[in-house]
Amino acid sequence: MDNQVKDSIIQKLKEYSLNDWPDRSQLPIELLPYYPIRYEISFAENLVLKNNRIVIPENLKSSCSNFIHTGHLAIVKCRDRAKSSVWWLGLSSQIENLVRNCPLCVENRTNRKETFLKDEITTRPWLKIALDLFKLEKWYKNGMVW
Ligand SMILES: [Zn+2]
Repeated sequence: MDNQVKDSIIQKLKEYSLNDWPDRSQLPIELLPYYPIRYEISFAENLVLKNNRIVIPENLKSSCSNFIHTGHLAIVKCRDRAKSSVWWLGLSSQIENLVRNCPLCVENRTNRKETFLKDEITTRPWLKIALDLFKLEKWYKNGMVW
């Protein structure tokens, strides 16, 4: 993957997984977050992987997360989709931000207010029983209104 080659962090991850990880104190600061997961990172088939997931370079994170959100799935489903193929540091929170701020998802998430239905005043008490959530249809049985 060409983009992995251009990414300096991924190149370091490749180097460390092919040789050996330096002591934690010797690591460049930008690689420190990878230290606890160093044994999950490998280089195979010309790709840097975290377990069986491709490590996505910085320049592809944004387009990759948009791709993961294809179909406007919710956060959990998007994370599941990512878990089967791709990984980068902070993926989980980036997906969460993307879904929370996706204009289409936001629009569909907000509760639309129902327009207020004005009802005529009944002539007798208990002629009509209703809640503010729905209107109960009148039942006619044996000539009586139920
Ligand atoms: Zn969306």
